[in-house]
Amino acid sequence: IKQAITLSDFMFSEPLGLEMIYGALKEDHEVQIFDMMVETKSLRAKIKEFSPHLVGMTSLCIDVVKVLDLCREAKETDPGIITLAGGTQAYLNPEAFYDESVDHIFEYTTKDNLKDFFASINKGDIHPIDGIRSRALAYKSTGLRGRNEYMLPDRGSTEKYREEYSYFGYKPAAIMEFGTGCQKVCDFCLRWRIEGAEEKLINLDLTKNDLRNIKEPTIMFIDNDFLCSDEKLNTFINLVKDLNLKKNYIMYGSVKGIIEYEKYLKVLHEIGLKALLVGYETFNDDELSKYHKSSSADDNIKAAVILRKYGIDVWASFMAHPDWDKKDFKSLRRYIKKLKPQITTISPLTPFPNLPMYRTLEDRLLYSMEDYEKWSFGQVMIKPSKISLREYYGELLKTNLYVNIFINKNTEMIKKYGLKNIYRVLKGSIKAVKKYKALMNE
Ligand code: SF4
Repeated sequence: IKQAITLSDFMFSEPLGLEMIYGALKEDHEVQIFDMMVETKSLRAKIKEFSPHLVGMTSLCIDVVKVLDLCREAKETDPGIITLAGGTQAYLNPEAFYDESVDHIFEYTTKDNLKDFFASINKGDIHPIDGIRSRALAYKSTGLRGRNEYMLPDRGSTEKYREEYSYFGYKPAAIMEFGTGCQKVCDFCLRWRIEGAEEKLINLDLTKNDLRNIKEPTIMFIDNDFLCSDEKLNTFINLVKDLNLKKNYIMYGSVKGIIEYEKYLKVLHEIGLKALLVGYETFNDDELSKYHKSSSADDNIKAAVILRKYGIDVWASFMAHPDWDKKDFKSLRRYIKKLKPQITTISPLTPFPNLPMYRTLEDRLLYSMEDYEKWSFGQVMIKPSKISLREYYGELLKTNLYVNIFINKNTEMIKKYGLKNIYRVLKGSIKAVKKYKALMNE
C-alpha cells in the first residue's frame, strides 16, 4: 500500500486468526492458507490451481480497499465463488465491506457460528447467524454482540511461510495469546474495546497444547498487558518450568505492571523474557492523564530503570500529539534519551472512528473515514495546531533519525540479534524515513 507506514516494516507475524479457523474447519473441509504477505503468486492463479468454493480474507482498517479488490478478483476468476471478509476491521466497521463482491462479513468468529455457517452454505439456506452479516440478508445483523473465540491455532497450516515470520530482531518468531482483555482502558486504545475490559486467562489445556506445537525459538505474546496479575504471572512461570520450555519471549507490559510486578521480572528474565513492548506514549503528564494512562512521566523513568536492572530490553512506543510544536518534539527527544529504550517507534496520534477522541478531533481530520489506506498509525491524521503539516512531518522525521542514529544502541543490538536481523529492522526505519519525506512533499 503506497506510503503507508505500518509496523509490518518492523514485524511480520503469522495470521493467528486464520490458523484458528483452519484448525476448526480442517476435519470436515479441505482448507489452505494463502499468505499474500509472502506469496508472489496472484490470488487469481491460486484460485485456478486450488478451485476453492469459498475464499475468506482477514483485514485491518488499511486493508479495506485491497480486500475489496481481492474479492472482486475472486469473483471474476470464478463467479460461483463465495467471498468472506473478517478480521479487526470487520468487527469495528463491518459497513466498510458492504459491497457486491463480499457475500458474508464475519464480525467475530466462534466454533458455533462457523459450524452454523458452513451447514447453511451446504444446504443453500442463508439465515441470520450471530456474528455474521450476509449480503443475501442485506447485511443485517442478529444484533448479538460477541467476541472472537480463542481456538487452538493449527501452526502446521502456515508451515511453508513460518521462516518468514519475525518480530523486530527475532526471526523466525511465533505469536500467541495467553490471556485476553485489558483493565487499563486507555482512551486511545482499540484493543480493550475489542477484547473487553476484563483480563482473563485463555483455557490452560489449550495453551499447553499450543505451546507444545510451536517450533520457533521465539514467541511473541500479543496479550495487551502481560504484567497484569499475580495469577497470570505465576501460571505462566510454572507452565514454562513444567513444560521445560527453552525459548525467547517478548511481551507487552504496561508501566504500571512493571512497577507493581517487579518481583517477577528476575525470574521472567531467567526463563527467557527478552524484551517488553512498553507504551510510554509521551513525556507530558497532562497528556498521559487525558489518555487515561495509569502512569506518569516519572513512572515511565522508574519502569525504564527497573527493566535495565533485570537486563530486559525495552521496545518503546510514543504518540505524537497534534498540538505539539517544535519545543515538544525536542522535549520528546530529550525524554527518549533519558529512557534509553533499545528500540523506539513514534506514531502520530490516530483517532480511530470507534474512539471517543474521534468526535473531539473530527473537525481537524485531514482524511475521511473512508480513506482507509491512510489509517496506518504512520500518517498524520489530525491537522497540527501549532506548526504546519510540513514542519510536523519534518519533526517526526528528525526525531526518527535522531532515535535511530543516536539512541538505539546499534552495536549492542547487532551483537544481540545478528547483523542480518538488525539490517532488516534498519531497512524498516529507512523505509519509514523515506515515506515521511514523501509525505512532507505531498
Ligand atoms: S494498557 Fe495497552 S492494551 Fe491496555 S488499554 Fe492501555 S494501551 Fe490498551
